[in-house]
Amino acid sequence: MIGILGGTFNPIHFGHLRVAIEVKESFHLAELRLLPCACPPHREQPSVSAHQRAAMVKLAIAKHPGLFCDERELQRPGPSYMVDSLQSLKQEVADETLLLFIGTDAFSQLTSWSRWQQLFTYAHVVVMVRPENPLPLMQPFFLERLAQDANDLTLSPHGKLHIHSVTQLAISATTIRTLFAEQHNPSFLLPDAVIEYIQQHQLYHHTVR
Ligand code: ATP
Repeated sequence: MIGILGGTFNPIHFGHLRVAIEVKESFHLAELRLLPCACPPHREQPSVSAHQRAAMVKLAIAKHPGLFCDERELQRPGPSYMVDSLQSLKQEVADETLLLFIGTDAFSQLTSWSRWQQLFTYAHVVVMVRPENPLPLMQPFFLERLAQDANDLTLSPHGKLHIHSVTQLAISATTIRTLFAEQHNPSFLLPDAVIEYIQQHQLYHHTVR
């Protein structure tokens, strides 16, 4: 099984990295791919380029076997739709089961994603429960697909929805960007290598986008 954790990663932080390690172990994944969203369809465009956000992801995971940075969205023009990324990944690894990991905040917006039902034709979707964002009421489409436990995900190659608890560190990229913009010390919220990259390239100096 291959896991996919999409995000803006603007910048990547220990909240992302902790859940990446946890789900990789919990679901015995061969690999967990962090997938930087090049051109987010649903939010203001980040002030930092997709290449720089991907570079920070690569620095953060450099010493962690099994974690990879998947840069396919950087190679595609236009809005980065997850469904296109899953489709292209599935073409590369047709025999692998894909698990798409999303936080509760993203899950509550899922029905606004482009061709969202099609996500389930390429992958199982795993919602990582975040305490400050309770699960929204689920519509029948989701209830019909709900897996009782993680073993259900091994019975079919795609199409299930699973809810999974993860350690939730109270860290957000927005807070980190604000700390940099206000010249505060961001240590222990994200890897030192990423902090050094941000300082070297003078990112988030004048903006919290
Ligand atoms: P921002 O503050 O800019 O909105 P973010 O920190 O929420 O960013 P994203 O890149 O948007 O980060 O998140 C990517 C994925 O990681 C989402 O599914 C999100 O729910 C999850 N995530 C983000 N922060 C945490 C955290 N502290 N703990 C667990 N999951 C997280």
